[in-house]
Amino acid sequence: MAYDVVVIGSGPGGYVCAIKAAQLGLKVAVVEKNATFGGTCLNIGCIPSKALLHASEMLAEAQHSFDALGVEVGTPKLNLTKMMAHKDATVAANVNGVSFLFKKNKIESFQGTGKVLGAGKVAVTGADGKTQELETKNIVIATGSDVAGIPGVDVAFDEKVIVSSTGALALEKVPGHLVVVGGGVIGLELGSVWARLGAKVTVVEYLDTILGGMDGDVAKQFQRMLAKQGFEFKLGSKVTGAAKAKKGAVVTFEPVKGGAAETIEADVVLVATGRRPYTDGLGLKEAGVEMDERGRVKTDGHLRTNVAGIYAIGDVVVGPMLAHKAEDEGVAVAEIIAGQAGHVNYDVIPGVVYTSPEVASVGKTEEELKKAGVAYKVGKFPFTANGRARAMLHTDGFVKVLADKDSDKVLGVHIVGFGAGEMIHEAAVLMEFGGSSEDLGRTCHAHPTMSEAVKEAALATFFKPIHM
Ligand SMILES: Cc1cc2nc3c(=O)[nH]c(=O)nc-3n(C[C@H](O)[C@H](O)[C@H](O)COP(=O)(O)OP(=O)(O)OC[C@H]3O[C@@H](n4cnc5c(N)ncnc54)[C@H](O)[C@@H]3O)c2cc1C
Repeated sequence: MAYDVVVIGSGPGGYVCAIKAAQLGLKVAVVEKNATFGGTCLNIGCIPSKALLHASEMLAEAQHSFDALGVEVGTPKLNLTKMMAHKDATVAANVNGVSFLFKKNKIESFQGTGKVLGAGKVAVTGADGKTQELETKNIVIATGSDVAGIPGVDVAFDEKVIVSSTGALALEKVPGHLVVVGGGVIGLELGSVWARLGAKVTVVEYLDTILGGMDGDVAKQFQRMLAKQGFEFKLGSKVTGAAKAKKGAVVTFEPVKGGAAETIEADVVLVATGRRPYTDGLGLKEAGVEMDERGRVKTDGHLRTNVAGIYAIGDVVVGPMLAHKAEDEGVAVAEIIAGQAGHVNYDVIPGVVYTSPEVASVGKTEEELKKAGVAYKVGKFPFTANGRARAMLHTDGFVKVLADKDSDKVLGVHIVGFGAGEMIHEAAVLMEFGGSSEDLGRTCHAHPTMSEAVKEAALATFFKPIHM
């Protein structure tokens, strides 16, 4: 039977693409090699990490804030088994939700490894080794990404002592000392989970800053906040070895600028140095699909590969490795295939670090504007001056708005603070409509809310905030 679209991979890119295509009246099949749908995000990424982040944040709140709020609960205790059960139940609910949506939208699914045989043909090999061929007008490659190791270092992941993010989501006990290799989003989120549950956490990072690529102000302040929470940082450090020892593991690193090597002992080492596009066994080379120098599938502005009828989306193509970016590309490709004008605005893709406090940003950083020679103005407002933040004991952080000096158009918004991941969306909507900081500063914001700090930061770009 011929399909209109066969999607390979059922992560947020693939499953959203399949649903949208089916909603647009196309005949759709999905090929997934894992036992459950939802890809990295639902099974071993966004969703389980947020379940653990939330649960561990509740423990930390109970330990550190309840008393000051006049809530007496005795000494809060960790029940790791129950916390992990909450995480597993959250994952199950989400992956089952995708199954339900596939059935509802009459999407056929094939469990097995998909291989592109050329335009219009996909082979699916099941766990039993049997292969079947699907015929289709269009193929969407949505095979996502996999854990990358440490460049030039042989890392033997056992997911118990030397772990990737997958192992770090399922540790059986709280490590005494967790060494995190990589100060990016995943390392800091999972480091936060285990720090709140009682681990000493040391982050070893190659760059001189954590959260490389984020606004410099934000990264600096955020590092100070994490240090207050007990994180230790070894920045500008190149890891040259991470190996199991008699007890635990040993991480070896040396200053990037040169100097003596150091070693640290760890109970668990989390290698969170990034992810690589996943195209193993897909047959792309044989099918003539071009890849770039970093192993990503090459696409044009309409997510088309060089082979007619083959598209690619999500982590396997260029751009931020984020679930919502993959989803939006999934929708765009479905619309393009259905003859509509699918489009993704890459200038307005929010990024969130779900730590405590959260970090959220959209648009350009100050460093990017400087580099591009754009004349800009800055408005900042701290949560210490926000009434709601004081009432909740969440005064850490600030909002920073960057606007074009002449036109006042908002070019970037960066927030460190409780609920930053929710607040960032008013900036995203504003930017999607090309709004100015005056638009934002003159929009009535409910009182008392954390979001009032966004309004005040916007006011600060062109006049003065009220509460400072
Ligand atoms: C710990 C962690 C936390 C994260 N947290 C966040 C977050 O909070 N927010 C956020 O936006 N992003 C987060 N991410 C990133 C996010 O998970 C990815 O950006 C997103 O999953 C990419 O979606 P995708 O559809 O491109 O690929 P994936 O989700 O990786 O899905 C690809 C799917 O394709 C399948 N597949 C691969 N090859 C084949 C084949 N040949 N045949 C059949 N099936 C195949 C795979 O089994 C997989 O199910 C996190 C990632 C990790 C690891």
